[in-house]
Amino acid sequence: MKKRYFPKIRSDECKGCERCVIACPKNVLALGTTLNVMGLPHVFVADESACTGCSLCFYTCPEPGAISIIEEKEED
Ligand code: SF4
Ligand code: SF4
Repeated sequence: MKKRYFPKIRSDECKGCERCVIACPKNVLALGTTLNVMGLPHVFVADESACTGCSLCFYTCPEPGAISIIEEKEED
């Protein structure tokens, strides 16, 4: 059974530092223009299908809880 991965962003935990945007080798993440509850721009998932699940975004993020990597099983 194949697996697919994608990041989930909790926008209210994100401070818009863009470390994850720079770290992602697949350009999955991008900084948006809408503001979160802290009044900061936050990242969003721009190309979910390109995610490989490498978790570089997760490990580079300084905000605990801002990024989760979701793993889903796909039917063959
Ligand atoms: S897990 Fe890897 S490929 Fe997926 S969004 Fe994060 S850095 Fe990019
Ligand atoms: S590294 Fe974390 S805090 Fe910085 S933009 Fe990405 S999700 Fe937001």
